[in-house]
Amino acid sequence: MGKQIVKLMNNYFFVVTDSESPERVEGINIEKISRKTIAKSEKLILKIDFNNMKNSDYKNILKKLFTVKKKMSRKKITFGIKGQENILLGYLINYDKNDQKHIDFIHGINAIFHSTLYDMYSYIYDVVCGYLDYQFAANDLCGFKDDKCVCDKKMGCCAGFKKCKYLGDEFCSIKCISCKLFTCPHLWSEGVRFYIKDILLLETFFNEVQKYLILVSVFLPKDIIMMRILPVPWNIKI
Ligand code: SF4
Ligand code: SF4
Repeated sequence: MGKQIVKLMNNYFFVVTDSESPERVEGINIEKISRKTIAKSEKLILKIDFNNMKNSDYKNILKKLFTVKKKMSRKKITFGIKGQENILLGYLINYDKNDQKHIDFIHGINAIFHSTLYDMYSYIYDVVCGYLDYQFAANDLCGFKDDKCVCDKKMGCCAGFKKCKYLGDEFCSIKCISCKLFTCPHLWSEGVRFYIKDILLLETFFNEVQKYLILVSVFLPKDIIMMRILPVPWNIKI
């Protein structure tokens, strides 16, 4: 059987290993990442053992990795082992590709290994929109039937108090993360509400002002929301 790999952006990839001796797998334990551990390592590759991390630690580990990666980039030091076309970023141990928490953590790593802050934020934006779309569709949250939701609102958008210029004949024609995060009081009463603090990528990589802007920028397309949340200059290298 071939090796199972997880592809990331910029030609990075992880190898998934089911080694019975995780201690023998090479790499820097991601939960211990710091400039000190990096200075001591011969190979700058990551070892991610999901049995060694609690879900509640994911945010801090990703934040630390992001800080270290930015500092290294400034010194032109890069992670990974370069092959002919791809770069081995490390190994995943006890990884469950069906576990949403594991998937979210890998999305976080993938975000960090983009080249610019714009690309990173754009990736996070798209992943979170995809996640929210999936939640609505897979769980049939709004119960659409004959072009109307359970609250009798039109298919595609429930912003009844304002005619939005982005509502096409049937559906919303843009990708507005703030609208996608919105649920109405009826859905709240059913226990359906999306909080930024529960969405790892948003909670980890944005500050309080950015989170507020992500929450309130309804009726706006992605490019405008991106401009609101990105610091200037927009193409900062990370
Ligand atoms: S969020 Fe509420 S009002 Fe909006 S479409 Fe869904 S069920 Fe209808
Ligand atoms: S941008 Fe928001 S308010 Fe406008 S159509 Fe799309 S979902 Fe509805």
